[in-house]
Amino acid sequence: MAPKLLSSSNFKSLFDSVDTFLFDCDGVIWKGDTLIDGVSQTLDLLRSKGKNIVFVTNNSMKSRRQFAEKFRSLGLTSVTQDEIFCTSFAAAMYLKANNFPKDKKVYAIGGAGILEELQLAGFTGLGGPEDGEKKAQWKSNCLFQHDKTVGAVVVGLDPNINYYKLQYGTLCVRENPGCLFIATNRDAVGHMTDLQEWPGAGCMVAAMCGSTEREPIVVGKPATFMMDFLIQKFGTETSRMCMVGDRLDTDVLFGQNAGCKTLLVLSGCTSESNLLDESNKIEPDYYTSMVSDITKLMDS
Ligand code: PLP
Ligand code: CA
Repeated sequence: MAPKLLSSSNFKSLFDSVDTFLFDCDGVIWKGDTLIDGVSQTLDLLRSKGKNIVFVTNNSMKSRRQFAEKFRSLGLTSVTQDEIFCTSFAAAMYLKANNFPKDKKVYAIGGAGILEELQLAGFTGLGGPEDGEKKAQWKSNCLFQHDKTVGAVVVGLDPNINYYKLQYGTLCVRENPGCLFIATNRDAVGHMTDLQEWPGAGCMVAAMCGSTEREPIVVGKPATFMMDFLIQKFGTETSRMCMVGDRLDTDVLFGQNAGCKTLLVLSGCTSESNLLDESNKIEPDYYTSMVSDITKLMDS
């Protein structure tokens, strides 16, 4: 069915049929480091009407604690760490859910958030920002050394990716066929600044796919891992959840795959013409310009 523009005539039936709103973050709640207008009032309104609120971001750079700080710094003081699901946390939860042995280590190509979440889950992480300055040098008769107890490599967005990290991760995966290769997400690009898109984690993951000749386990949207985790935690039926996002191939697909209602907002990376273009095959149930339209429609 073609996506419907959210309006005063269809808003109430959507609102009444949803107990839990899942919000993507970048392009929905904020853009880079700028809060999107009217978000705070809309979250307050949803809470006052008894709706559950969950934030589901593909961003792996920060831990849940660090994202909670970001929400606070943007004035969203009611948001708690428990409501935040980022892919650094998802990677650690994937290892936990799969009984990853505590005596094995995890090599991270990505930000500090991944190492913090690994540690909180009781795992030993290696790599991350610390390896950003290291150089991979090859000389005759010189062997690159890596820790043979690494049992998983986690790859997320890494602004300091280098040949050293790629060699480290590649050796872990290629020399140990049992080593897990986990991608936090595969976003092609992201709005690292308000004005421009930059290469996303998909670019780092693709580098590791090339050298290892393996496909990763993806924990971020649109893969189902985070949704399965949320269903277990909240026990809500997915048909009473609404995924609100700005990206068709991650957010909307993530919601649709699980049987949630889906609402696309045009405040991020998708325009109305992208959505309605005949080449687009991913159609949300509803679309609207921004999250604060919920407040306006409630008042109308
Ligand atoms: N990963 C990184 C590192 C990002 O900076 C962003 C957006 O800024 C994303 C992923 C996408 O995040 P979201 O799923 O909240 O749109
Ligand atoms: Ca987004």
